[in-house]
Amino acid sequence: MTDNRAELYRMIPAVDRLLDSPGIKDIAESYPRTLILRAINEILSETRKGIEKGDISKDSNAIDPENIVSRIVKRLEHLSRPSLRNVINATGVVLHTNLGRSILAERVIKRLIDVSSGYSNLEYDLERGKRGSRYTHVEGILKELTSAEAAMVVNNNAAAVLITLETLAKEREVIVSRGELVEIGGSFRIPDVMKKSGAKMIEVGTTNKTHLNDYEGAITNETAAILKVHKSNFQIIGFHEEVKRSMLVELGRKYNIPVIEDLGSGSFIDLSKYGYQWEPTVQQVVNEGMDIVTFSGDKLLGGPQAGIIIGKKELVEKIRKNQLNRALRIDKLTLAALEETLNIYRDEQKAIETIPTLSMICRSYESLKSKAGRLYRMILVKDGGSFRVDMINGTSKIGGGALPLLELPTRLIRLNPDKMSAHDISEALKSCTPPIIVRVEQESVLLDVRTIQEKELKTVAACINNLNKTGA
Ligand SMILES: *Cc1c(COP(=O)(O)O)cnc(C)c1O
Repeated sequence: MTDNRAELYRMIPAVDRLLDSPGIKDIAESYPRTLILRAINEILSETRKGIEKGDISKDSNAIDPENIVSRIVKRLEHLSRPSLRNVINATGVVLHTNLGRSILAERVIKRLIDVSSGYSNLEYDLERGKRGSRYTHVEGILKELTSAEAAMVVNNNAAAVLITLETLAKEREVIVSRGELVEIGGSFRIPDVMKKSGAKMIEVGTTNKTHLNDYEGAITNETAAILKVHKSNFQIIGFHEEVKRSMLVELGRKYNIPVIEDLGSGSFIDLSKYGYQWEPTVQQVVNEGMDIVTFSGDKLLGGPQAGIIIGKKELVEKIRKNQLNRALRIDKLTLAALEETLNIYRDEQKAIETIPTLSMICRSYESLKSKAGRLYRMILVKDGGSFRVDMINGTSKIGGGALPLLELPTRLIRLNPDKMSAHDISEALKSCTPPIIVRVEQESVLLDVRTIQEKELKTVAACINNLNKTGA
């Protein structure tokens, strides 16, 4: 047995021999030498491990030099492609956090290229010829769009909530309703963020009902703020009650305590105008008198990842001066993308049409039906292949903790398992270039055209056609 292994180890080709082999020489120009060596070493070490475990025997393919070379070439392709790359979102979840939330508008992408290909006035005041602040680039437009007194931006909304609490309530108390102690996907939990900020959380009310006197009864000399949190990804239905924003604001005024709202996915546009359930817009929340409002840049806003903080000048000024700000600050590319996204909002119709997040949400069933029809016609084999293809009605979701119960009517391409299982089809679609991410429901694979971009339809059809050959 041991002798046999020693013999197998000797059969493994040496690194030099591999480097000289035609299969590797052919591609030597296309890859850096260090990467070629890494691929060779990885494959050789995997082969040695296989021998050690007894998985590889004398006549197994894995020890054949040609096989080793082809595995090295495959590994090189794998190692040299970017880790972060495009995928096609066929899930119908518009704000899919795992798939990068918002796609940027074309105008925004142009600005990103412009700003990143040269120096910029990031922190340089061109008029006065001296050091400026990076926040000035978006403060004006944010004030204009929301009518807030002041504005600043940080890395994301989690950071916005953290720095706001740290600045205004560290080592003091913050009152929050038990009905709003949310966990957002990942690891954002209001109680944990509160703890990190050094503020002491004072919970009031119950899960389903919180009254004004619950808040008022909890106010002490130590109270630094009242916090309202958007429920985001869940809803309480049935017997429930929460305190109106305007009443919280009034309470705050009475005791001279700032009222903060974490709006989660803030929207500038009243989506009820487009047939969706009513949600207060950022402007409305500011108008109702909230002292500080925070929200994400890449949820309903449809811009880059950012946390936006707007509100009373005096409070925003304090937050801006917090040392933490340096650690949570946003970079110039994000700033450029955010500024350009915000500029689009000056014209609401343009925003709906050109910001991909909004245009995907507002797309009519009729237009989705025709888009699905176009994809369907590009699929060559509908029956008799590895799976059967048809079209059905279904629903898409907004995602990102915005309007969680809302189901948007859509049209789906359905791949019904035949020779291939739903799981295998979905795995195969994931191995396409770019990978296609789908929904699997009731043993069928569903592709929602709402989140498939127009320019991606061809790729999706080609990938399906490649899988679904008759007699396959
Ligand atoms: C999404 C969300 C957050 C976190 O925002 P990020 O931009 O992802 O950091 C915080 N609070 C609420 C209510 C949210 O919906």
